Amino acid sequence: MKRLSVILGLVAGIVATSCTPKTNSQTDGEPMTHLLLATAWFQQSAEMRACYYQSYMLAKMALKENLQNYKGAKPAAVVLDIDETVLDNSPFEAKLMADRQNYSDSAWMAWSAREEALALPGAAEFIAYARELGVDVFFISNRVLDERERTLKNLATAGMAVDSAHLLLYDLSKGTSCKDERRDLVSETHEIILFIGDNLGDYTSLFDRRDSSLALHLADSLHEDFGRKFIILPNPMYGEWENAIYGHNHKLPMTEKNRTMLELLRK
Ligand SMILES: [Mg+2]
Repeated sequence: MKRLSVILGLVAGIVATSCTPKTNSQTDGEPMTHLLLATAWFQQSAEMRACYYQSYMLAKMALKENLQNYKGAKPAAVVLDIDETVLDNSPFEAKLMADRQNYSDSAWMAWSAREEALALPGAAEFIAYARELGVDVFFISNRVLDERERTLKNLATAGMAVDSAHLLLYDLSKGTSCKDERRDLVSETHEIILFIGDNLGDYTSLFDRRDSSLALHLADSLHEDFGRKFIILPNPMYGEWENAIYGHNHKLPMTEKNRTMLELLRK
């Protein structure tokens, strides 16, 4: 998960809320940090699990229908992202917050080396279903090439074993984490009939590096693709959506990020 940005400047927020008795963190002093709430929702809410089950159920229906409609000669494929799509890295976010650390590549590499990420609800069942239908399963992830072995092992442990040829990672030497080239590579031999991810960039690079419009209207213009060609999974913890809100300024202090978000919101 070579993320463009991961926002973990939580020290001020955690200190503020732990040192001062509060009955309502939203109205008394610094607002509760969005990441703590987002991670709690992602990891500890039944609603999150239901969302994932619902999404993968829809994915099965879309896959079956798209396969029935596909009459081409190339074998059919489904392309999935990995992090927060099939593997749950929320313990990594939680540990950083507990340790009052910011995101760093070294912290991420230490987490991924543990190979402990659990399968997200419905993911393993979907992958088994795709294979039952004879659809090839590819993973295109922005984990880096050095993470190949550990990622293969973690996927296997989580019940989603795949061989190395079906795992396309981020080659740092390319200088871009855009997934177009890797999607094109799969398309040379396969017809991709469905994409699944937690970031719209997992579907098309149109959503990479969003400007101040946040690509909201772009999403509207592609609404007929969602649930049919692309299944989006909920990730409130991080993503290009958040980078865009901060104008891709990853180093803003948390108080500034909170202020920026609050100013942006419709009231
Ligand atoms: Mg992801």
